[in-house]
Amino acid sequence: MSRSRFRLVVDPVACDGAGVCAELLPEVISLDPWGFPIVASGDVAPGLVDMARRAVVSCPRLALHLVRVDD
Ligand code: SF4
Repeated sequence: MSRSRFRLVVDPVACDGAGVCAELLPEVISLDPWGFPIVASGDVAPGLVDMARRAVVSCPRLALHLVRVDD
């Protein structure tokens, strides 16, 4: 049985660039020179999925989404 895989996606229209997500999940999210998030490509490491969920629910603009990746 395969484990679910997840990716983080930012809605660039909703995001205000305050950077809360990058503070909570620096392993996956960095900030560009204007403070907007840059999400590392690829799947979120299994050990970071819970922290990714925390970053999602902490986003004040509901601009960060954790998407399940289907094979
Ligand atoms: S926490 Fe949400 S609104 Fe703030 S920078 Fe991250 S994605 Fe954008």
